[in-house]
Amino acid sequence: MTGPEGEPRVKRCTHCDEEKPLDAFPRDRTSPDGRFRWCKTCNTAASREYYARKKAARDVVKPAKWIVLHCETCGKEMHYRRSEIEGRQRRGVPVPRFCSMRCRGMAQRREPAPGPAEGA
Ligand SMILES: [Zn+2]
Ligand SMILES: [Zn+2]
Repeated sequence: MTGPEGEPRVKRCTHCDEEKPLDAFPRDRTSPDGRFRWCKTCNTAASREYYARKKAARDVVKPAKWIVLHCETCGKEMHYRRSEIEGRQRRGVPVPRFCSMRCRGMAQRREPAPGPAEGA
């Protein structure tokens, strides 16, 4: 059976609930009528939103996992897991200030020694 040509073939988009010509729907071989449930406009908007959300999620996750500290002596970057830094802060342990024992020692030598009050 062949349908008459020129017959307005429309389909209702399940997303915006508008009737649109079949041409306004992307092809979808798995669908019974060969067209996607959503019109192209809704598809584009939805996928743009989807990727934007995905990208935003990725951007947020990255810096959240690592904390960058700088050695107070040589300025070298030190990468620590956020969970480790937060764990230290919870336990009242100071966050690392130096990249190595050497830098720590140099900083202590540079600072004036605690006054004579400690003597005796
Ligand atoms: Zn639509
Ligand atoms: Zn250092």
